[in-house]
Amino acid sequence: MSGASVKVAVRVRPFNSRETSKESKCIIQMQGNSTSIINPKNPKEAPKSFSFDYSYWSHTSPEDPCFASQSRVYNDIGKEMLLHAFEGYNVCIFAYGQTGAGKSYTMMGKQEESQAGIIPQLCEELFEKINDNSNEEMSYSVEVSKISLVDLAGSERADSTGAKGTRLKEGANINKSLTTLGKVISALAEVSKKKKKTDFIPYRDSVLTWLLRENLGGNSRTAMVAALSPADINYDETLSTLRYADRAKQIKCNAVINEDPNA
Ligand code: ADP
Repeated sequence: MSGASVKVAVRVRPFNSRETSKESKCIIQMQGNSTSIINPKNPKEAPKSFSFDYSYWSHTSPEDPCFASQSRVYNDIGKEMLLHAFEGYNVCIFAYGQTGAGKSYTMMGKQEESQAGIIPQLCEELFEKINDNSNEEMSYSVEVSKISLVDLAGSERADSTGAKGTRLKEGANINKSLTTLGKVISALAEVSKKKKKTDFIPYRDSVLTWLLRENLGGNSRTAMVAALSPADINYDETLSTLRYADRAKQIKCNAVINEDPNA
């Protein structure tokens, strides 16, 4: 299929201990596919609302009927992308968001039961499908990958992390990558809106965007999960993550099925 949009999901995690100790308030609300954020500095202001392919409420616990578990996230996003990989498309799933917002938890998860993230669940099903040779008269040869599963560094601005020295330098490189990723996402969103292909997309400005160039606006079916902190203290970063995710929805990728030249 050509011109498929990037699938965009957002997910809000439980409070961490720091947020709990500061008696943080939850400023994220979700209803169906939509997510809204309340400005804690001006609670009377109307909440800002965004709609996504999926809005995952993981702020509470599994007893809550609205709670989105690791398997729910995998079943919606991982399964679909794996199917596309088997159809012959390049696929990419990437997580975006501030440090500690839940990117690694969504992508990798934990060892404990029902805590496995998208990557281990996808790999398990990938090999199950490959090994699922129930018809003895048939032999299957399955070739895949390109599958890109990306767990990005945090998206926060250097000034909000207080990093110094080497960490600051490292942070500056990460920042450059993420700034460029933002520019690439904006440029691609503009191209999709104007329905033209000629705009310059600054993929070459960072290693990250160069590596992801096919997955962003190129030959790929791509999904992005934006990880959100629920806490009032992270309002600015969380709003910026929501805006990134909102722009990413507009990106269209021209995915084509890869044909085996030797088949
Ligand atoms: P990031 O990769 O964005 O820096 P992490 O994935 O490491 O953040 O998450 C920070 C902490 O919050 C971890 O201890 C993680 O287990 C926890 N966490 C994140 N998302 C969830 C979630 N949906 N449910 C439960 N715990 C979560």
